Amino acid sequence: MFATVLHGPGDVRYEQVAAPKILKPTDAIIKLSATCICGSDLWPYRGLQGMDGPMNMGHEYCGVVVEVGADVRSVKPGQFVVGSFCISDNTCPHCKHGFQSSCEQREFMSGAQASYARVPLADGTLVATPEMPSDDLIPSLLAVSDVLGTGWYAADAARVQPGSTVVVVGDGAVGLMGVLAAKQMGAARIIIMSRHKTRQDLALEYGATDIVSERAEAGVARIKDLTKRIGADAVLECVGTQESMTQALQVARPGSMIGYVGVPHGVTFDGQTLFFSQTGMMGGPAPVRRFMPHLLDLVLSRKINPGKVFDQQIPLADVAHGYKSMDERKAIKTLLLV
Ligand SMILES: [Zn+2]
Repeated sequence: MFATVLHGPGDVRYEQVAAPKILKPTDAIIKLSATCICGSDLWPYRGLQGMDGPMNMGHEYCGVVVEVGADVRSVKPGQFVVGSFCISDNTCPHCKHGFQSSCEQREFMSGAQASYARVPLADGTLVATPEMPSDDLIPSLLAVSDVLGTGWYAADAARVQPGSTVVVVGDGAVGLMGVLAAKQMGAARIIIMSRHKTRQDLALEYGATDIVSERAEAGVARIKDLTKRIGADAVLECVGTQESMTQALQVARPGSMIGYVGVPHGVTFDGQTLFFSQTGMMGGPAPVRRFMPHLLDLVLSRKINPGKVFDQQIPLADVAHGYKSMDERKAIKTLLLV
């Protein structure tokens, strides 16, 4: 079969690889219905993350089970499934505590930008839908796998409550999903920092009430003005740079929480600044599996439409073009048709 392999910075290829096989009795093989490119795929694509060798790309997936190992009980061939980008057993103490992304048996999904993929720990990782979903729901179901689950976790970790004033730092796909999540959780005011018209429009559609296009200190000053100098009750940090993390800390009111889901690159903290900010921080890789049953319900009942975040849909064979579009910020998020 053909799959997506990153050979080095800027060098992503759609090339022949061996088809995945059941390696452990807890594995499942799925035929992808659709897959996509993640903002985090751009870190190695841009040469900002070390590589040990060619990387099999892709960790967001949904599709139909074609084969399961001897020990798999909860899913069977023919079922439509969605899984998290974090592989988890869903039975260990961390999983039971709701932190499946720190599972004792955690692996990170890879190789999903392909027609078939192997999913380890299928019982703990995959959730089947009650029936075969209609095609128009596929983008939204795919979004549950990572981008929606991660935006949701940012809002959950920031403890968004009904009536909260929320600031979302970052207008990438995860930030936009953070807006959707905050709205669902009842936030009264959702301020997103964004300088791009198409992203601003989608943020407004998902429930943002205010757009702040200024950056750095000017952006912080604008948010202080909008919140009567108080700051935000909850901050969603969805980028992972020093600038975005600093902004998040500066707009968070004392007693607030910052949910940070952008993988930090080159971020450092000053102990005294943190101490006197009196803010809490919770983040890391999203335990998407915790939220999946609820998010799948919301999608299948058409209460939310996270699939709109995919503003580019191209054939999987054109994956290299998709990476380029996202790298140049011409696309918010690229769906790959399998
Ligand atoms: Zn576990």
